Amino acid sequence: MALLPRLRRLLQPPPPAAVGVDVFVADDDVDQAEGIVAALVVDGARLPPFDYGPLDLVALHAACERPGTYFIWTCTCGDPGCGGAFSGVLVTHDGEMTRWHDRDTEHRYCFRRADLWRALRDAHRAGRELRTTGSWEFTPAGNADFFDRVPDSL
Ligand SMILES: [Zn+2]
Repeated sequence: MALLPRLRRLLQPPPPAAVGVDVFVADDDVDQAEGIVAALVVDGARLPPFDYGPLDLVALHAACERPGTYFIWTCTCGDPGCGGAFSGVLVTHDGEMTRWHDRDTEHRYCFRRADLWRALRDAHRAGRELRTTGSWEFTPAGNADFFDRVPDSL
């Protein structure tokens, strides 16, 4: 009888989830990463970089600005394929909502666009602050591009 809920989930887009972006200094033992990493927080649960890969914040920022296919999760080295993501996340904007279809994991997400922008803005502030308190690098290194600039949209 597990088929019916599964079918229903496939046919109906999920309702919007609460979203956050957690920026923190990785614990090498837990996260299999070093430096400052970012993880998506969905309905209060942090999606661990060890399982999902660290967020590519440049890609996430672009996905907020315009729909398309993005590698929102990547490998610590910055190559999503190295982390097992080959198809990326199909991002659509639907009024106040953004919907993601992760084609590699088949996970689907729906967020309010305003919530995601707020999360990104908070992450930007948190990462810049963290960097001043230690000598950590960003992981992946490309995330420095996100923190170095202050885009108008943030
Ligand atoms: Zn890698």
